[in-house]
Amino acid sequence: MALLQCDNLTLEGKSSSAVATYIRVKELDLVFDLGRCPMNFIGTNNVFISHFHLDHYFGLPIYISQRWLSGIPPGNIYVPSRGSKQLIQILDRISALDTGRSWAYQINPVRVGDAIPFRQNLIAHILPGNHSVPAVSYLICEVRKKLKPEFQHLSGRDIAELRKSGVEVTREVQLPLIAYLGDTRSIPLEAHPLLKQCKVLICECTFLLPEHRARAKRTMHLHLEMLPAVLANVGSEHIVLTHFSRRYTPELIRQRVFNYLPSEERSRVQLFL
Ligand SMILES: [Zn+2]
Ligand SMILES: [Zn+2]
Repeated sequence: MALLQCDNLTLEGKSSSAVATYIRVKELDLVFDLGRCPMNFIGTNNVFISHFHLDHYFGLPIYISQRWLSGIPPGNIYVPSRGSKQLIQILDRISALDTGRSWAYQINPVRVGDAIPFRQNLIAHILPGNHSVPAVSYLICEVRKKLKPEFQHLSGRDIAELRKSGVEVTREVQLPLIAYLGDTRSIPLEAHPLLKQCKVLICECTFLLPEHRARAKRTMHLHLEMLPAVLANVGSEHIVLTHFSRRYTPELIRQRVFNYLPSEERSRVQLFL
């Protein structure tokens, strides 16, 4: 399994185009996509599926059945709304075939523009994807309470008094922690004002070589040559590249990516290999 540290967030899993993509961020209790389901992911409570290509969701029956068998309450599984009904039918059929009974599970269909609170202080913003099937991207923000500017000059005692008298002295701010784009031909930079500032951006980079430009366009994936223009507009401290085509060896991926990207970008780019 790949393991990357991005400050206080640990990314763990695997991502290989057409094989499987599953990336867990343990600190946030979430998994992005579940193309396969390793046993140590079973206890993670939030699963965000980007689209219904097999390499991104086929771990779901294992995730659901293992939780059910172990008596763990259903996890929150978020999926694009288009296709969610077919997914439920498939899961019910697998469940009937497997046990003759129905597994308990929780599928939450999501649409672009939704903002979904989870795990006390986190919000998932649903952004568009641009792929050959309906797809979404996810931007995860932490919600913090901050003192309103008009009260910042006051002492702790004055603030406590105001609070006691019923005045709302704080406002909520959102800190963009991590974004996961799934499979996509473009990056929805204008879809949410916080996306460009998110600390960690997980971005696919399926194709690397000039002879695969047409294939990238046809299959609706990003090509390495598209990245510099995008990265120039993104302030993320960590850019994590995923979903490389199986035709490339890890050595070729490392060489090609780091030789191609401008030198000022190299220090913040990491490969999920
Ligand atoms: Zn894929
Ligand atoms: Zn795909």
